Amino acid sequence: MYKMIVGNWKMNGTSADLEEFFDFANDWLNPMFDLMICPPATLIGRMTGTSVMIGAQDCHADVKGAHTGDISAEMLADAGATHVIVGHSERRTDHAETNAMVAAKTNAAWNAEMKVILCIGETEAQYRAGETLDVLRTQMAESIPDGAMKTNITIAYEPVWAIGTGLTPTLQEIADVHAFIRETLVARFGDAGAAMPLLYGGSVKASNARDIFVLPNVNGGLVGGASLRKADFTPICSALE
Ligand code: PEP
Repeated sequence: MYKMIVGNWKMNGTSADLEEFFDFANDWLNPMFDLMICPPATLIGRMTGTSVMIGAQDCHADVKGAHTGDISAEMLADAGATHVIVGHSERRTDHAETNAMVAAKTNAAWNAEMKVILCIGETEAQYRAGETLDVLRTQMAESIPDGAMKTNITIAYEPVWAIGTGLTPTLQEIADVHAFIRETLVARFGDAGAAMPLLYGGSVKASNARDIFVLPNVNGGLVGGASLRKADFTPICSALE
């Protein structure tokens, strides 16, 4: 089964962190799975050239233009990123990104020949109200464009209430939700949906990674806080081997 781990550094990381990154990358010269770090855009161009793939955390939907402070997919690819995360809950919350905007960003990334890691997930209120599957169904329908396939997209299930909180769904809940995501993708995309990688994200750490990574329909993880330090991230990566 295809396997992948993605570390999302969020708004963390400066030159001072590069030595530790290259030290980490040297330990993973030929990983048995796809291993990626998504640093802030300022570091992308300085972190390429190892076995660790480099992704971006967001892109603008347009190729260029009057969008001060934004970065296009083409620019991220030019800097050396092969992938871009879209639809992260922090973007949806902090920047009011809608499913339609996530779909537009996905198309922009594909036009720049980048691969997408598209995040979906319910809030705590939606979880408590039993709306998780309805929320995910809508997010998938509206944010995944036609043409999605395993070579251009990975879906990351990230319950918003599990991100950075230390809380996680039960293993059964993760398995059930991933089975639902798989069924929904297969219903729409057929064989292509059956092959799309699915990642779990939300408070993955060394102590729970192995149990999560062996669940059916879990191809690996999207890791935030625990990807920042080599000492925390290495055991999580080892859990996937
Ligand atoms: C994330 O930001 O995508 C994430 C999963 O964060 P954390 O691992 O810190 O919960």
